[in-house]
Amino acid sequence: MPEFSKNPLSRREFVKSALIGSGTLAFGGFLVKAEERQETGGGKPRYSLVIVDYNKCTGCRTCEAVCSQANERVIIDGEELLGLGNPAEARVKVVSYNFPPVDVPNRCLECPDAPCIEACPVSPDPNTGRKALYRDEKTLAIKNDPERCIGCGNCARACEEKRVGIIKQDKKTGRPTTLCTLCEGDPQCVRYCPYDALTHFTGDGRHFALSPDKIAKRLAELWYYSGNREMGR
Ligand code: SF4
Ligand code: SF4
Ligand code: SF4
Repeated sequence: MPEFSKNPLSRREFVKSALIGSGTLAFGGFLVKAEERQETGGGKPRYSLVIVDYNKCTGCRTCEAVCSQANERVIIDGEELLGLGNPAEARVKVVSYNFPPVDVPNRCLECPDAPCIEACPVSPDPNTGRKALYRDEKTLAIKNDPERCIGCGNCARACEEKRVGIIKQDKKTGRPTTLCTLCEGDPQCVRYCPYDALTHFTGDGRHFALSPDKIAKRLAELWYYSGNREMGR
């Protein structure tokens, strides 16, 4: 985790003062110019993802709780326990930095070029064209086919090296876990974020993913140092 120094403004002070006038808005996993926020121009979206407005995110981790509740259902004696989530199993992970304080909810950004799929060594199915990792035609989320996955971990390594490093591997099978499902089109983290910091975003693929470390450095630069100090990238 990066160490930032100097005497930062309080979070509230910088939220009030900094980002709005800068011309650039920071969203979950990528940076996008304000005028590019709606990517599709009326065409059919080919990509779907959840983005974060860091001006609003407080790091409360409600998104982790509702995500795990929606995607890792707890069954005891055949009965589902509603309302019980385990943030350790969430598809969104809030990475917190302290010097200065910055919170980066990290998740799969459904990358247009999907290095994770590219790295999958399983041949495309002749009927569906899908590798063991593929983009679902309906939800547009990256999914794993457990019937074809060989648990090699190439996808996890590709995401770690090239993008956000969100893929964990199942300890027994090696199969990828923690891929955002987009909750089958109704992202629960978006629905329940108490600060309205999350948006379900569709686009034609001009977005790009950045690692939490890079986002945190960029945000610290924008919010706390007002561009007066060069941060490493
Ligand atoms: S629920 Fe919303 S405000 Fe809380 S950590 Fe997640 S994105 Fe940030
Ligand atoms: S969209 Fe659903 S699966 Fe994805 S991070 Fe949000 S709650 Fe989790
Ligand atoms: S490389 Fe990572 S962030 Fe990008 S689509 Fe694959 S799992 Fe998601």
